Amino acid sequence: QTTPQPTGLSPVIRKKLMGYVGFANLPNQVHRKSVRKGFQFTAMVVGESGLGKSTLINTLFNTTLYPAKEPVHPSAETPKTVAIESIGADIEENGVRLHLTVVDTPGFGDFVNNNDSWKPIVENIESRFDSYLEQENRVNRLKIVDNRVHACLYFIQPTGHSLKQIDIEFMRRLHTKVNLIPVIAKADTMTDEEIGIFKQRILSDIHHHNIHIFQAPSYDNEDEETIAENEEIASKIPFAVVGSNTSVTTPDGRKVRGRAYPWGVVEVDNEEHCDFVKLRQMLVRTNMEELREYTNDVLYENWRTEKLLGMGVAQDSTVFKEINPAARMQEERVMHEAKLAKMEAEMKMVFQQKVQEKEAKLKQSEEELYARHKEMKEALEKQRLDLEEKKRKVETGRPVTPDNKNLSTGKKRGFLRT
Ligand code: GDP
Repeated sequence: QTTPQPTGLSPVIRKKLMGYVGFANLPNQVHRKSVRKGFQFTAMVVGESGLGKSTLINTLFNTTLYPAKEPVHPSAETPKTVAIESIGADIEENGVRLHLTVVDTPGFGDFVNNNDSWKPIVENIESRFDSYLEQENRVNRLKIVDNRVHACLYFIQPTGHSLKQIDIEFMRRLHTKVNLIPVIAKADTMTDEEIGIFKQRILSDIHHHNIHIFQAPSYDNEDEETIAENEEIASKIPFAVVGSNTSVTTPDGRKVRGRAYPWGVVEVDNEEHCDFVKLRQMLVRTNMEELREYTNDVLYENWRTEKLLGMGVAQDSTVFKEINPAARMQEERVMHEAKLAKMEAEMKMVFQQKVQEKEAKLKQSEEELYARHKEMKEALEKQRLDLEEKKRKVETGRPVTPDNKNLSTGKKRGFLRT
């Protein structure tokens, strides 16, 4: 069966396999490779201090990534600007390695004037994009470290009113640069009804200001179960969360992660008590890859194009190279090859020079050797002639030298002096 194709493309023939070939193992190969390499994920937490950010991160990854904070003395000098701090950890579950980085933003919303609280955060996110772009432009692109922020948990104070100016400002400034995930902090301080109303208000504010918050994309070929799962997760946004790293005992004797109150226990992992489970499902279990993909394909790509266009580049051929990664790579390759050719020519020249020097030295020592050989040969010849002369004189019995007397004595003693 042949599927007709537009002209210029080869026709696609659908074939039935007669037996096992093996490419069905491709997903396993990809899986093995990914597991070996591990995964990188960077999450940012933003919100006023004391809203439970560190506790929630510890609860999400079930580890004490954040040590318990020292209480701040009232007389201690408070910083004047938002700081950016990141903590990295390698965690492993069933042989799968995750390099997790959590970027904290202490000081956000804690000042009398919070107008510019969002600024250092935007700068930090953009500098991470910058570092990625710089790595992408290198000739060796094999070891790219992805430090881009893949998700930003924005903690909303559980006031029950609506979003504050600082919340709106932050989300408006950040929604095109990062996957925003709004959460209602310390949801155990509100009743179910209050939370329902608060969520509606928050959503209408977000809608009113045209803020885009992350939602799992739905694909056409997705199975019904996944679609239902994604819809259920989406229905809980903004997630009303409760964090706790201590286990408490419920009235019916179960040990759970939660917070104990005189009137009962709020369970972190109980979907009837809060949306923690759904948040973890989105962030870690179901959509981590989609968060990374959306960061790369949409947020980073938009930022990159804007940055290049902002550098005064218009749509001409030079710009085409700037924006078009293939053209840029081609240009880099040509430059790299020219550099290699130059290095090779230089090396050849040095090599030839060395060979010539060596040859000259060899020739010189050969000549020296020959001269010495000749000298020795001449000396020997002279010696031989002398001896022959002496021999001849001895045989003829003619005394030639004063030694002749000794010669007869020597004979008597039985040796011949030479
Ligand atoms: P951060 O400053 O935002 O990182 O806040 P922390 O995680 O240090 O929490 C500040 C305080 O709030 C601590 O005493 C926590 O025990 C408490 N806390 C954290 N999460 C929750 C929560 O979900 N509900 C309640 N009621 N208290 C919480």
